[in-house]
Amino acid sequence: MFSDKDIAHFSNLETPFYYYDLNLLRDTLKTCSDAANTYHFHVHYAMKANFNDKVLAKIKETGFGADCVSGGEVRKAIESGFAKNKVVFAGVGKSDKEINYALDQDIFCFNVESLQELQVINDLAGKKQKIAKVAIRINPNVDAHTHANITTGLDENKFGINSWDMPAAADILNASAHLEFVGIHFHIGSQITNLDVYKNLCVRVNEFAAWFEDKGFTVKILNVGGGLGIDYHQPNAQIPDFEAYFRIFSDFLDIKPHQEVHFELGRALVGQSSSLISRVLYVKNGKKKNFIVLDAGMTELMRPALYQAYHQIENLSQKSNAVKYDVVGPICESTDCFGKEVALPETFRNDLIAIRSTGAYGEVMASNYNLRDAIVTVTSDDVASS
Ligand SMILES: *Cc1c(COP(=O)(O)O)cnc(C)c1O
Repeated sequence: MFSDKDIAHFSNLETPFYYYDLNLLRDTLKTCSDAANTYHFHVHYAMKANFNDKVLAKIKETGFGADCVSGGEVRKAIESGFAKNKVVFAGVGKSDKEINYALDQDIFCFNVESLQELQVINDLAGKKQKIAKVAIRINPNVDAHTHANITTGLDENKFGINSWDMPAAADILNASAHLEFVGIHFHIGSQITNLDVYKNLCVRVNEFAAWFEDKGFTVKILNVGGGLGIDYHQPNAQIPDFEAYFRIFSDFLDIKPHQEVHFELGRALVGQSSSLISRVLYVKNGKKKNFIVLDAGMTELMRPALYQAYHQIENLSQKSNAVKYDVVGPICESTDCFGKEVALPETFRNDLIAIRSTGAYGEVMASNYNLRDAIVTVTSDDVASS
């Protein structure tokens, strides 16, 4: 929700830009951190959701660790002040260069996604006379009931090591002098709104943890990944129910006294704290359709083009809902569309448009396709001090 002061501030600025509500971000982080603390759970922030410096600074202050999916993210986490012993590194395709960098930084753990990767990390750690801490990322074949493009825990997905390869993984771990097994890792998908999915995940986590312990391994870390969704239809309802989410894991995981439960939340922590603010360039009224052409496009926010994602669209300059428009960007692609048949007030050139809930997988996916200008960000602190 935007105050008159916000809108007055926006109207003096060049568009498009990402607006961050740092107060909402702080409240969201605190709610999550308080809920996690009640259960003694550990949270690593999934950096790929948003690595804006101001966002990272708030997250670091909360005391969360960092979950990284590239060498660049590992570097960014460390440079942003996240403790090295709270940095984890996942990803199906870690290059030798990335692994070597992470070994040099003595990060907390590699979440390993193939048998071959286990051997490569062992070899590279050996050359440095180091012991690499590893967790096995297991593909548990649990359906996340989310969009197919953001499902990661089914047999047909590229992520993690399949259950039938666990004996081979155990053999490699036993034979590798430069690997220290710390636990098991899962991440079954993103934008998960049906919490029952997590009960199914807990059942699988319990099975795999028991299997490794039977084989003589100590499973210290149960890392259940992230994926908690947000309500894109209620951008003003805002803070996800972290308490209900953590309670499921507390109720359904068999947590032994020597075990820690780790989470990797991205979207749920940052998603609602941002909107993409844009101006109307043109209104084209046709026979079949009315179009609003914005000065923001898929180059600023890719989710609608990439996975038909819904974002609420608001006209900040007019009131009353009267007309249906297709809201499109300026990019030379037909998928450059933010919403079809969106009910909006009658809209005019230069109206300010807010595309809501863009804090996760928004700014980070911006590209300079069509040689677009680099994206700009504005925060609630800028508005407060104006
Ligand atoms: C993307 C990702 C996450 C975070 O997912 P969200 O849906 O944003 O919570 C967590 N863990 C891994 C390994 C990921 O790749």
